[in-house]
Amino acid sequence: MEGLRPDRPARDARAFVTLVTNADYVLGATALIHSLKATGTTADIVVLHTDADVAPLRTLDVRLVRCDLLPTSDAFNQTHARDALHARAAFTKGGKPPFHTPLDNFAKLRLWQLEYDRVVFLDADTLVLRNIDKLFDYPEFCAAPNVYEGWGDFHRMNSGVFTARPSATTFADMLARLDVPDAFWRRTDQTFLEHYFSDWHGLPVVYNMLQYVWFAQPQLWKWDDIRVLHFQYEKPWQDHDKADRLRPLIDLWTSYARGEVPDLSALPNP
Ligand code: UDP
Ligand code: MN
Repeated sequence: MEGLRPDRPARDARAFVTLVTNADYVLGATALIHSLKATGTTADIVVLHTDADVAPLRTLDVRLVRCDLLPTSDAFNQTHARDALHARAAFTKGGKPPFHTPLDNFAKLRLWQLEYDRVVFLDADTLVLRNIDKLFDYPEFCAAPNVYEGWGDFHRMNSGVFTARPSATTFADMLARLDVPDAFWRRTDQTFLEHYFSDWHGLPVVYNMLQYVWFAQPQLWKWDDIRVLHFQYEKPWQDHDKADRLRPLIDLWTSYARGEVPDLSALPNP
């Protein structure tokens, strides 16, 4: 827990963990937390956060754990700065919001410093639609493939949802392997974790259903099966050019963000 400043003690040995480094992802975390609570989970809910204003989260009765970004080198930080990364490895499949800072993603790795036995990490742009507590019984490292376009997607993993076993030893080893000379992790923590856990266990796509599947692979969409919905690329609280095509998903997100418990049996099909 070195360098981590929790606002209260842990209550369970298992935790759902997310990360927020700015006000936009605080909005994301708000909807995520409401959605998790609606599943009746008995695990802790933890928000790792930097110096962002997390006041809106204080009323939600979750554990807030203040942290710094990782102590990476200047060379590493320059290589992974937003403009440098976008120039070297442009995003061609979708748009990254202006408030997305690639370097911040690496702070996810701090979850390995937490005192929990078992963690399920969730990006702040996800919603948990059904109870997923059973993932705590899954080993490290489980994640779903990065599916939103075609069969080739099954070769890559998505780091928006994964299972982990915190360990100071693992954390130190990760830092040593992350910030090596000339390191360039083109999709930041996702590329690093895919490399670090190269024999990752695959979760079914329903544990990390990416929003583009709604319009790109509608045959994969079955609301009853979806456990976690993930708004990769453009965020539901943003004005963006795919909003009209994603309207029912955005409405669902808005409903959770307001603290409502939506009727999941009444959602339209793609
Ligand atoms: N994140 C953050 N601030 C940033 C970038 C990322 O807090 O500037 C956190 C947040 O939890 C976010 C996750 O890291 O959900 C990964 O980023 P994002 O979800 O935007 O990436 P995508 O899913 O679009 O690849
Ligand atoms: Mn995400």
